[in-house]
Amino acid sequence: MLEDIAMRFFVLFLTSVNLFAQEQPVLLKASTMLDGKGGVQHNVTVVVEGGTIRSVGASSPAHGVTYNLAGLALMPGLIDTHVHLAPHFGPNGKVAGGRGESPATELGYALENAYADLMAGVTTVQSVGSPIDRDVREAIKRGVLPGPRVLTSVRQITDTRSTPDQLRELVRQTKADGADLIKLFASKNFRDGGAQTMSDDQILAVCQEARAQGLRVLVHVYSSHAIMSVSQAGCTSVEHGTLIDDEALRFLAAHGTYFDPNIGVVAQNYVINKDKFIGTGGFTEESIKGTETRLIPASLEMFKRALAVKGLKFVFGTDAVAGAHGHNAEELIYRVQKGGQDSSAAIVSGTSVSAESLNMSKRIGVVAEGMDADLIAVEGDPLRDITALRRVVFVMKGGKVYKSPAR
Ligand SMILES: [Zn+2]
Repeated sequence: MLEDIAMRFFVLFLTSVNLFAQEQPVLLKASTMLDGKGGVQHNVTVVVEGGTIRSVGASSPAHGVTYNLAGLALMPGLIDTHVHLAPHFGPNGKVAGGRGESPATELGYALENAYADLMAGVTTVQSVGSPIDRDVREAIKRGVLPGPRVLTSVRQITDTRSTPDQLRELVRQTKADGADLIKLFASKNFRDGGAQTMSDDQILAVCQEARAQGLRVLVHVYSSHAIMSVSQAGCTSVEHGTLIDDEALRFLAAHGTYFDPNIGVVAQNYVINKDKFIGTGGFTEESIKGTETRLIPASLEMFKRALAVKGLKFVFGTDAVAGAHGHNAEELIYRVQKGGQDSSAAIVSGTSVSAESLNMSKRIGVVAEGMDADLIAVEGDPLRDITALRRVVFVMKGGKVYKSPAR
C-alpha cells in the first residue's frame, strides 16, 4: 500500500518534470491553409515548437499535441494596425475613459478590449495611442493575461503651434517614453473639411526625426495636399484619407506609402452605438447623421477608386474605439462585400502587408517555417465567403493556444 502510494507520487513527479522540462511540439492539422501571401495549401500539418513554426507540410512528427482543424481554414493571425485600446463604455452606458476614472479602472477596460481583439483572431494590434497602452503591452508581454501583441504610439502629436525643433524633441521624448511608433495629426477631420493643419515643414520634421530614431509614423490625414506632403516626407502610412483624389492615390503608390482607409468599422460603430456616443467628445445627433449619410458613402467611393490604383499597398486598420473591439474583421468583410476587393487580397492585406508595414515581416503575417506561431483558424472558406472571418474558432499567439474547438 505504502509502496503503491510512493509509486504514484513518483509517476506524478515524473509527469510534472516532463511537463515543465520538455515542451512537446504542437501539430496543427488543417484541411486548408492560407499562407498570408496569397498561397493556399490543402491537408497541411503545421508544426509549432517553442513559439515558432518549425515546419509546414504534408508530413508530421510522430508525437506532439495535435489539434485537428479539419474543415477549418488555418491562416496567420490578423494584424490590426490602427486601434485605440483605451476608449470604452462606462457603467452609465456612455463613452468613458480618462474622466473621473482611476487608472486601474481604465487599465481593466483596455485589457478587456485587447482580449476581445485576440478572441476575434487579431494577434497583433497597434494602438495609437494613449499612455495606458504601454501598461497593456507590458501586462500582456508578461505572458499571464491573454491579449494580442501590442505596439503603441503612447501619445498623439497634434499641437500645430509647435516649431519643427519642438516637434523633433517631442518625437525623441515619445521614444524615451516607450513608444513603438509615432502618431501624427496632419489635417482636420472629414466633417471639418479635412484641411491641412500641420505645415509641410512640421510634417517633415516629425517624419525625419522619427526615421532617425528608428520609428515609423502613422498620420491621421484626410485631404490630398496634406497626404502628398506626408508621403513626400517619408511617413509610413496614411490613415483615413477619405478626401484623397486620384493624383494623391497614385502618389502614395509611387512612394510606397501604406494606406489604411478605415472604411468598414469605425464609422459604422458610431452609428450602431450612437446613443452611447452622443453627448460625449463632440458627438451630436447631427454629427452622427453626417457620419451615416456623408462619411460612410464617401469612404466607400474613395476605396473603390483606390482599389483601381496599381501598386497601392493597403494595410488593415479599423480605428476601433469603444464598442468596436472584437469586430475588427468587419473591416475586411466590408472591403470585399461593399468595396469589391478580392477576398484573397483583403486577407493578404490583413496579414503579410500589415506585418510589412510594421517592419515585422520576418516574424509575423505569414505561415512559414521560422515565423512566430501566430495562427488562427476560421470556420468555412474565407476565400469564397469572407464572412468566415467572423467565425474564428482557433487562436494561437506565440505558440500558445488561447481559443480552440474541441480536439
Ligand atoms: Zn484613430
